[in-house]
Amino acid sequence: MVGLRFLGGVGEVGGNKILLEDGDTRVWLDFGKSFTCGADYYTGYLAPRGITGLKDYFEFDLLPKVEGLYAEEMLGETELKYGEPKFDGIIISHAHGDHVGHLGFVDPKIPVYTGAGTKLFMEASEETSQNRLGEHAYHTFRTGARISIGAIDVCPIHVDHSIPGAYGFVIYTSEGAIIYTGDMRTHGPKADMTEEFIEAAAEVKPRAMITEGTRVAPDDHRQNLSEQQVAAGIARVCGDPHHKKRLIIYTHGPRDMDRLRNFYAAATGCDRKIVVAPKTAHLLTKLIHDEHLDLPDPIKDDGIAVYYRRKKSGSYDESDYFRWERPFLDKMITPAELKREPGAYMVNIDFTGLTELIDLRPERGTPFIYSMSEHFSEDEAEGTVLKNWISHFGLEHVQLHASGHISRGELAEAIERIRPKKVFPVHTEHPEMFKRMHDNAVPPVKGKGYAL
Ligand SMILES: [Zn+2]
Repeated sequence: MVGLRFLGGVGEVGGNKILLEDGDTRVWLDFGKSFTCGADYYTGYLAPRGITGLKDYFEFDLLPKVEGLYAEEMLGETELKYGEPKFDGIIISHAHGDHVGHLGFVDPKIPVYTGAGTKLFMEASEETSQNRLGEHAYHTFRTGARISIGAIDVCPIHVDHSIPGAYGFVIYTSEGAIIYTGDMRTHGPKADMTEEFIEAAAEVKPRAMITEGTRVAPDDHRQNLSEQQVAAGIARVCGDPHHKKRLIIYTHGPRDMDRLRNFYAAATGCDRKIVVAPKTAHLLTKLIHDEHLDLPDPIKDDGIAVYYRRKKSGSYDESDYFRWERPFLDKMITPAELKREPGAYMVNIDFTGLTELIDLRPERGTPFIYSMSEHFSEDEAEGTVLKNWISHFGLEHVQLHASGHISRGELAEAIERIRPKKVFPVHTEHPEMFKRMHDNAVPPVKGKGYAL
């Protein structure tokens, strides 16, 4: 018998954890951390402790208590007994935390299957942050592969999303094919990849489709540009004669490489150097090894400089910085240099780095290009704080963003073409709305099992 069980990503955007069983074969589709994980109990610096493994998560049912899944050391202080693994693999669609973030709790004996690009993002994240994804036997794939795991065959097909290396899946089970979209969009610069996935999905006449539905919402009225329109918007700001002698400040999703490429191209196009964070420079040194991504080398490319925030000694001493930050010290640009010749640079300042504005003191009217979802600035307290900073320094707020997710209308069209017998919506706050898009849409209940 083939069954599905949804342990995360149910009625919320992110945190996908979907269990697929075919006879004795049991695999997980993604093992993500939900954005709201524990938000009722943990906030700010009040966070689950790192040293207690799963104890602080189980206390509030933030992760499913499942036998044969977790690493022995993570279970140490909990009542769940460690047992030999009962799962054959974890399949990761892409490197966003809401799809991969809880992998660190999983038993290292359970193999992990993911795209070659995703693996690079995961390595970079482990090297430059506290995120621990754990030791696992990794099997990396590229589009078009066919991977046998027990009774099932998994075919990853690349899709376009706001991070490179994202995949959707056609999964052949003993009772027919299942489609899992991961996260995807059809309006992005690599729309042809998503098109390939949709075509392949339609071809197999699937029994079921597990689909993301981030933008299936009654009020999806947020700005949604294409990546090309974003690029044109950035170029417009660069070309504005009022800004010729001003700094250009920008912020974007740190791992959205399409966006980074656009800022880089715009900066080059108006004879500015792009000034990135050390973390971005480090990520680029990893990603340039993937020739499909066509990204600049932060060490060799003279158009790239690196902004180091002052730490410890306060005087940019090499020993102030982590080892992974040091390879780019030669490319350092200081606030003093940016102030001397602001028209020669385009600088990345993210939310937690807003304090740098106090040192930079940009001329009033300096553009601040906010190239992320407005969701953040609309809903959260941080949004108000961001607006206060922008207004305090008299910056010109420019909102330019292309979503990483397929629109409701385009998703309805994709479902129509794929013609699955059943649709299981995940990664959406409004699963019930899928009933208007498909006759047999099943908004999953968390933890409940569904036969195919
Ligand atoms: Zn994603």
